[in-house]
Amino acid sequence: MNKNNLIYLDNNSTTRVDPRVFDAMAPYFHELYGNPSSPHRYGLEASIAVEASRLMIKKLFGIEDRELYFTSSATESINIAIMGTAFANFSIKKHLITQATEHPAVLEVFKSLESLGFRTTVLDVDGQGFVDPQAIKNAIEPDTLLVSIMAANNEIGTLQDLVSIGKICEEMEVLFHSDLTQAAGRYAFNVSEIKLDMISGGAHKIHGPKGIGYLGLNKTTKKIRINPLMYGGGQENGLSPGTLNVPLIVGLSKALEICEENRTGETEFLNGLRQLFFTTLTENIEGVHLNGPGIRLLNNLSLRFDNISSNDLINGIKTLAFSAGSACATGEGKPSHVLKAIGLNDSQIKSTARFGFSRFNSGHEILTAANEIVNFIKLKRK
Ligand code: PLP
Repeated sequence: MNKNNLIYLDNNSTTRVDPRVFDAMAPYFHELYGNPSSPHRYGLEASIAVEASRLMIKKLFGIEDRELYFTSSATESINIAIMGTAFANFSIKKHLITQATEHPAVLEVFKSLESLGFRTTVLDVDGQGFVDPQAIKNAIEPDTLLVSIMAANNEIGTLQDLVSIGKICEEMEVLFHSDLTQAAGRYAFNVSEIKLDMISGGAHKIHGPKGIGYLGLNKTTKKIRINPLMYGGGQENGLSPGTLNVPLIVGLSKALEICEENRTGETEFLNGLRQLFFTTLTENIEGVHLNGPGIRLLNNLSLRFDNISSNDLINGIKTLAFSAGSACATGEGKPSHVLKAIGLNDSQIKSTARFGFSRFNSGHEILTAANEIVNFIKLKRK
């Protein structure tokens, strides 16, 4: 519960900044506020903080050399990874592959590339949102540059089989990029083990600040050529130029570090909350359906309720904060492309609500929230 007296269950949209992250960031706003490129002590202190954060995150993902870059968001990282490699390889490779339930940060880049003369393949998924690795293999052509497949879906929680896809990309000598935005921190990812060439993500889904992202490159097996999309002072090897946002970088690494240190306990805790929520609903009302697979992104549930629209639920229960689909899709008022891709019809899409849990929810809150939904639906169905 927060000061709005709202139970926050929209943690796939964004999360509350962890107080430990906030505390770690604070000195870099008002004491250690130097520009890491400056030659004096302020600059040096800022630069030490940035490089310590970089080292920590590189270690977490098993990235070698300096190849972990800070950007302003997961969206920016994804754009650099996909567009940047496409532009750098335009004369030799013009084909890129992804799948239908990716975030718009990927799908819109693909659309834009298509309009610029690239060829793109957007593969279908099955009823639970999985893309078939074999379909990826079959779609690879002699001039395929890259495959981009997300680790975890932000609406229905599907966890893609990155290991199988990585093996295929390695064998076929195609770059493999993954959007780890929802999954990093919640699961361990080692780029070499999964054969990932590029990873993108951000901080605000895991109790870090908004406005900071990372792009990781694994150059151990393949050559990765990337053109910058912006030009400026040359920071971040020219890939994300502009003065580094030191407090946010420190916040990102702290958020990832906390996830890493508490993964086992947090996994158990979030599983427990989600189970409590789901069983309270299904044991008390009929016609509750799960969208997406049973084994899914740890803190996510996508549910549809027969004969109840998610708008009714959202507007009718003023004490809960949750969403219909992803924040981006709802903002635009368009039916979710993810729910469409798994074969839901319009009325099923309208009756879908997404719930996202976090370390700041209590069992009491979850029970209260589920009971409020039960009471509302019972009354509505009378
Ligand atoms: N990818 C996924 C899977 C997401 O859930 C999001 C955010 O909703 C993004 C990318 C984009 O993140 P940001 O808006 O922080 O750039």
